[in-house]
Amino acid sequence: ALKIACDLVDEGMIDEKQAVAMIEPRSLDTLLHPQFDAEALKKAAIIGKALGASPGAASGKIVFSAEDAKEWAERGEKVVLVRLETSPEDIEGMKAAQGILTVRGGMTSHAAVVARGMGTCCVSGCGNDNSVHISYADKVFEINGHRFTEGDWISLDGSTGNIYAGQIPTVAATGNKNFNRLMGWADAARRLNVEANADNPRDAQQAVDLGAEGIGLCRTEHMFLGDRKNIIQSFILSDDEAVKQQALADLLKVQTEDFLAMFKTMSGRDVVVRLLDPPLHEFLDDPRELEVAITKLEAAGASEEELAALRARLRRIDGMVESNPMLGLRGCRLGIVYPELTEMQVRAIAGAAAHLKKRGLNPKPEIMVPLVSTVEELKCVREQIEKVIQSVSEQTGVDLSIPIGCMIEIPRAAVTADEIGQYADFFSFGTNDLTQMGFGFSRDDVESAFIPQYLSKKILKSNPFETLDPGIAKLVKLGVEGGHEANDKIICGVCGETGGDPDSIQMYYDLGLDYVSCSPFRVPIARLAAAQAKIKSNGGAR
Ligand code: PEP
Ligand code: MG
Repeated sequence: ALKIACDLVDEGMIDEKQAVAMIEPRSLDTLLHPQFDAEALKKAAIIGKALGASPGAASGKIVFSAEDAKEWAERGEKVVLVRLETSPEDIEGMKAAQGILTVRGGMTSHAAVVARGMGTCCVSGCGNDNSVHISYADKVFEINGHRFTEGDWISLDGSTGNIYAGQIPTVAATGNKNFNRLMGWADAARRLNVEANADNPRDAQQAVDLGAEGIGLCRTEHMFLGDRKNIIQSFILSDDEAVKQQALADLLKVQTEDFLAMFKTMSGRDVVVRLLDPPLHEFLDDPRELEVAITKLEAAGASEEELAALRARLRRIDGMVESNPMLGLRGCRLGIVYPELTEMQVRAIAGAAAHLKKRGLNPKPEIMVPLVSTVEELKCVREQIEKVIQSVSEQTGVDLSIPIGCMIEIPRAAVTADEIGQYADFFSFGTNDLTQMGFGFSRDDVESAFIPQYLSKKILKSNPFETLDPGIAKLVKLGVEGGHEANDKIICGVCGETGGDPDSIQMYYDLGLDYVSCSPFRVPIARLAAAQAKIKSNGGAR
């Protein structure tokens, strides 16, 4: 299709805008990700179908843990990580795998969002429409009567959601000169800016290479996991002030390094850094696992002292368990309950920016407050942020002007945007949470639980976590209008998963947003869709 479009332009049959309008944005996926060898695919049998959550084709040996994925990949094996669902803890294994298959979850589940960000194939929620059994202990996965054990080959198509038994050769993504020509024409035709969601320099560079104009969402939660989880845990769980202060100092050091690397990669381009957002439990040990560990240690004859410390830890974690963590202590609430965390993060952002400015670079951070529901929350956090920026500016002698904005992802925030907008330089609509809370749909469960039935019964036209729902769009409209009422210079964008969806991009254009931000590999799709939205609104290609 690209070749035909370019040939027609070269032959003077159509103009460049008409060429841009001819290409289906989603079809660019085939140029950006590995695909199955077409001949080999003809002989392969589909054994199950689930959500195509992150495009591309993957073939690998099954492993059941992130640790195994990493270890096997390091010794040269191609692996597919099969999990009930993934969590931020699994990130290293996800990076090492060719593909990810989850039993639970939908388009905004952890596995789907992270895989799209990394450009890794992912099929999610296979437990919904298939008969599935998984056992980590026995290292067994069964789907529709097909039984796999660790090391067996499986193949996934992350676009169609098809699951195949055995190995199917893949062909790598190919460069295409017509691609760059078409993208150039699309960029000239569009109004919406296209940014990317990325939280590390590798993904940020990938995003820039794919044409992102900045980072519209840098989620900072991954920076607190892995080997840093211990530090945040000691901050949250310790009663000892000295331990807490040490943890904060350690976090400040590593966060500053994170932002130095990020702003260096993105010098000259905006980086919207979102303050810590995830529910508290993501930082704490799973109490069930801790209980098991204590029981095992008891049986192994561990010292009373060690056991007492672990039991105290368990009691503390139990006291913090929330029934609905996604509606609990997360987002700006975390920063209000633990202002030291906000201060530490802002100090790291401003400190890194000042350091790079002194070295002649052009860091352009912006600070985003998540999960705001009332103007008072934003007012309180904004005052705190401004104080820290001011103090870093005075200490370093570097003039820092860092825009401060917030996410609009709670219905209350959308309907009171005329108040919240007084304290925001920008709004970023988080449609994952806005859809979750606007519908009352749990984003972690409903896509496997009943959305497929809703789609087949035509109760829903499309998955609202994938394509902006018209009802949720009304909330976005209220948010955009309210924001402009309060602040006529406010910049409005979207950073939820719908930000990379072509149908939604048309709606965002019509709603008057300034930018969309999406996973790096969806950036070209968004650039093309944004151009098509503008062409369409100007009365079509002709
Ligand atoms: C959102 O809610 O749309 C969003 C971008 O934030 P997260 O997915 O991290 O909650
Ligand atoms: Mg959110």
